[in-house]
Amino acid sequence: MTDITLDNVTKRFEDVTAVDSLDLEIDDGEFLVLVGPSGCGKSTTLRMLAGLESVTEGDVLASGEAITDLEPKNRNVAMVFQNYALYPHMSAKRNMTFGMKSAGEYTDEEIEDRVAEAAAILDIEDLLERKPKALSGGERQRVAIGRALVRDPDYLLMDEPLSNLDAKLRIQMRAELSELHDELETTTIYVTHDQTEAMTLGDRVAVMNAGELQQVARPQELYDYPANRFVAEFIGSPAMNTLPVDVREDGDGYVAIGDGVDVRLPETDGLADLEGDRLLLGVRPEDLHADAATADTSIQATVSVTEPLGDTTLIHGEVAGTFAKFKVGARSSLRQGDVVEFGADLDRLHLFDDETGATLYHSDRSLETAEQPLSQ
Ligand code: ATP
Repeated sequence: MTDITLDNVTKRFEDVTAVDSLDLEIDDGEFLVLVGPSGCGKSTTLRMLAGLESVTEGDVLASGEAITDLEPKNRNVAMVFQNYALYPHMSAKRNMTFGMKSAGEYTDEEIEDRVAEAAAILDIEDLLERKPKALSGGERQRVAIGRALVRDPDYLLMDEPLSNLDAKLRIQMRAELSELHDELETTTIYVTHDQTEAMTLGDRVAVMNAGELQQVARPQELYDYPANRFVAEFIGSPAMNTLPVDVREDGDGYVAIGDGVDVRLPETDGLADLEGDRLLLGVRPEDLHADAATADTSIQATVSVTEPLGDTTLIHGEVAGTFAKFKVGARSSLRQGDVVEFGADLDRLHLFDDETGATLYHSDRSLETAEQPLSQ
């Protein structure tokens, strides 16, 4: 039973601050995903948790005990890497158990039992005598996960473990990892740059950018109530549209007005304070509907490219010079240059500060609303 705390953790490599004052608490048994673009500090954070990288400032705690300066071998941690890191000359079983005997912590019988248990969970019982070159990518990754499981770690670290697999296998392994975690409930910290993987796997998702934590929340919370423009655009595919607007009072309430944009804003706290500021209206492609403009909601777009996706058509377009994406029905007849009036779901709107990117408004919830704790 292990919870993990990162307390104001900073990692500097000479003049690069890879991780900047990171505060994060991972509950016992939680599956936390660290996600962000390349170079945002995810792997460095994981390596500090493993003890493979020193911490410049701050503390790492496991169940309340500082482990900041402990060697990896003195932390009961296991790590699964993107490249599997299996010894090519050893069988799958030997890869899984290598070093356990010499560590003297386990008897031969215990090791056998643990291998049998992990192999059954991962469905690799028939592969144990094979060497890595006789295994597929997915099977190799199962063996690498098996090696982590036999050690019964207090916490499990995974660094992009599915990136080397093809798309179909990745989706299958993603589901298997979820199932495995439900079964074992080992505290897990999982790094990926893939927002879909983050959303589907994480109990909570921590979004990082340029060494800084942007937001940590449950997947749906991140999607529905991003804390800033970065999170809004990073989580979700295609990304949320952000269109330049001003907020004005028109006698009936507030409207967001910009070139090609005229949208009535449901009133939640703080809207009056935004009058006159340079803002971005955030609206997701699926919350915009072609030919559904009304007096209350109208976004005028010109089509640049149409991408038929089978079940829908993705439209790349422009709203008065600002790039935007829309989804319309399958077999759409829209063509380049067509002008479309979109209506927006009024309870799915956001406003961001144009300069800082901070979220200033959600149309269906006050910014003050606190997220429920994970345990509820
Ligand atoms: P990726 O998804 O590409 O692996 P990441 O989010 O995991 O990226 P990190 O590998 O943690 O990012 O790197 C964060 C920053 O720290 C980057 O700017 C990187 O160049 C820098 N960095 C990482 N390791 C070192 C090192 N050993 N020496 C100097 N700079 C480093």
